[in-house]
Amino acid sequence: MSSAPIQLIDPPALAADAAAVSDGPALDQYGRRINYLRISLTDRCNFRCFYCMPAVGMQFAPPPELLSNAELERLMPILARVGFEKIRLTGGEPTLRRDLVRLVDTIAHTPGITEVSLTTNGLRLAELAAPLAQAGLARVNISIDSLDAQRFHEITRGGDLRRVLAGIDAAEQAGLTPLKLNCVVVRGINDDEVVELARLTVAHPWQVRFIEVMPLVGVANVADDGVVPSAELIAQIERELGLEFLGWYGSDPARTYQIPGAQGQIGFISSVSNPFCSTCNRMRLTADGRLHLCLLRDDEIDLRDPLRSGASDAELEALIRHAIYVKPWGHGLPQGIRPTLRGMSQLGG
Ligand code: SAM
Ligand code: SF4
Repeated sequence: MSSAPIQLIDPPALAADAAAVSDGPALDQYGRRINYLRISLTDRCNFRCFYCMPAVGMQFAPPPELLSNAELERLMPILARVGFEKIRLTGGEPTLRRDLVRLVDTIAHTPGITEVSLTTNGLRLAELAAPLAQAGLARVNISIDSLDAQRFHEITRGGDLRRVLAGIDAAEQAGLTPLKLNCVVVRGINDDEVVELARLTVAHPWQVRFIEVMPLVGVANVADDGVVPSAELIAQIERELGLEFLGWYGSDPARTYQIPGAQGQIGFISSVSNPFCSTCNRMRLTADGRLHLCLLRDDEIDLRDPLRSGASDAELEALIRHAIYVKPWGHGLPQGIRPTLRGMSQLGG
């Protein structure tokens, strides 16, 4: 994938809006409280899931372009001051980041941060779950799109299902719960496994989350024919196992259901067929230091260059408040507008 120039919103205008200079938790221009930040720690990955990255030709950011641990540690109290409370670490594959445990420790102990969680492919969790939990990690989401080892290997282009299952075990042992398992459903690839994946929740207190595949840069063609609307999955699981609607909780994008009598729950994330933009409370920080304002749009505000050219904490805070203020209302998939600049592996989902 070629690295197109990133579209940056002009920061000099930042002091012009009132939100950029106010105190207290920041609201966006639509009055939404934005308190959840997903931080991508690397754009690299030890898998090549076919709906996330092209098989070849992916260009990764050279290490000096990534925010260093020191830069992230400097940003944390500022992010907490503008109202970010929940942090999710993602990637690429966040467990490839050296010093992940130390970083979790720092973030979890930043005053104002109430929860640090992680989204991972699980490959390295068997060794990392315990130290991460000890450092203050609260929960993990683990991606698993198939229970068939050969199919899993093909979807991830090389992944070892046994190691991921060992990672799930280790996460449970370490208390990184409630455990959520993310499953991206693609028509003709793994939609025939949805009932089996849902059945995992009968005996385990997990939330299995079925995610509609989104058209991200480099692999958007997968979504062209691959989206399976959640409504179809809900009907299928209901037919075979029964399903009760539990609710749609606040800003959680998943509509939550349960098989009668099951220990766990099932979530449906319907970004394409039933967007939840009106309750969005999140933003993303890319590994190269840009605040990415909406997953499925290109708008970004750069923090890295100001960080590296001597911006004060107050200036960085104003920039972050401005970014929150100008966050777009929602994505434009229904109007045929697709993101054009970054792939999912650069954004972290
Ligand atoms: N590597 C980690 C993992 O796979 O969990 C974290 C990064 S990954 C980009 C975060 C989540 O995005 C994963 O659950 C993955 O399945 C999901 N994802 C990747 N590409 C997607 C796409 N095109 N549409 C929907 N979800 C996607
Ligand atoms: Fe890697 Fe996660 Fe993307 Fe799969 S979904 S290629 S594990 S970043």
